[in-house]
Amino acid sequence: MSDLSSLGDLRGKRVLVRSDLNVPLEGDADQQRITDDGRIRASVPTIRSLAEAGARVVVTAHLGRPKGAPEQRYSLAPVAERLGELLGADVAFATDTVGESARSTVAGLEDGEVALLENVRFNAGETSKDDAERREFAERLAGLADAFVSDGFGVVHRKQASVYDVAQLLPHAMGDLVATEIDVLRRLTDTPERPYVVVLGGSKVSDKLGVIDNLLGKADKLLIGGGMVFTFLAAQGHEVGTSLLEQDQLDTCREYLARAAESGVEILLPGDIVVDTTFPTGEATPQPRVVAATAIPADCLGLDIGPASAADFAAALSGARTVFWNGPMGVFEVAEFSDGTRAVAQALTEVEGLSVVGGGDSAAAVRTLGFDESAFGHISTGGGASLEYLEGKTLPGIDVLED
Ligand code: ADP
Ligand code: MG
Repeated sequence: MSDLSSLGDLRGKRVLVRSDLNVPLEGDADQQRITDDGRIRASVPTIRSLAEAGARVVVTAHLGRPKGAPEQRYSLAPVAERLGELLGADVAFATDTVGESARSTVAGLEDGEVALLENVRFNAGETSKDDAERREFAERLAGLADAFVSDGFGVVHRKQASVYDVAQLLPHAMGDLVATEIDVLRRLTDTPERPYVVVLGGSKVSDKLGVIDNLLGKADKLLIGGGMVFTFLAAQGHEVGTSLLEQDQLDTCREYLARAAESGVEILLPGDIVVDTTFPTGEATPQPRVVAATAIPADCLGLDIGPASAADFAAALSGARTVFWNGPMGVFEVAEFSDGTRAVAQALTEVEGLSVVGGGDSAAAVRTLGFDESAFGHISTGGGASLEYLEGKTLPGIDVLED
């Protein structure tokens, strides 16, 4: 796989970098504030090393899910400002992606300077399922540069113009962030050091079925929390009240439980649950209550794993040599339901071996709960991409770099 050095002398060359700068924002459309800049910080090293090599760096990225046309609230303008602060250098911002502003901004770059193009998803060609339409847009992007560096790990599972097609049009290389992510994922799948414990949570079982399926054959223990736990509890015949429940996945969960039992993989479900009568909306004060996982009252919903389960999960993690964690244990955004997630995060920091946090919300959780990122072996910037890799799928944005 070609790394940055394969591009040769970059002095004076225009290098298009696909980064993942899709950060959470809050506030009015014209007064957006970045609430977690983790992805911008993760993108800085590659951009900086290209700039230091004398390249004219043209960064392209998306933000949110605009529908193929400009929308003020999805503008990357606040990101350009933050990127500049983190780089310690001005970042020229183009108010379009491949139009007049992009062309003149790129033309104005000196060696070692950085520009950011406006949200690549303001263009219908970016995510088009029509190969020709995507290709046409990719050609316009490619026209802005002499080489392409793929560094947006969060999007490498997408067959999109700025991720996939553009790599076919320019000399290309893998950025350091993507290279690191892929290296870690290989260590989780090829020959993981044992014991290997996987912790899964988050909102939907259906998002994570493929991973459970694939990792059941690799991990020694699988701990399950978060919203997905209720489909497992229901699959065992328990009442789950008004908790998140995916009725159509009950049989699949039953099958996984049976397969785990056969293959000697331990699936650990929480024994106690923190419940409330309503989902926390910020209007009423939460009234958390701890109940047995087998006795969730009909008018309650589960919002976190309980304290006994948190201790069980931490104990199951102690002594692990490889850990992969994806998905918060509860609605960690609300203090009353964040303890389970905090306990798992804490246990990961104590792992002697490789501890990996995957998933956008999980990564945000460890930061908002005040953990030092360096306490973890690796915090992945790509939820969907790492899950698809762990499902055993090929990632188009990685595949296309392998020639
Ligand atoms: P990640 O982005 O790390 O992959 P997900 O997107 O799958 O994680 O899930 C994150 C969301 O799951 C969080 O917003 C959290 O509030 C929610 N969640 C966790 N536990 C529950 C629960 N018991 N009920 C409802 N939502 C939950
Ligand atoms: Mg998420």
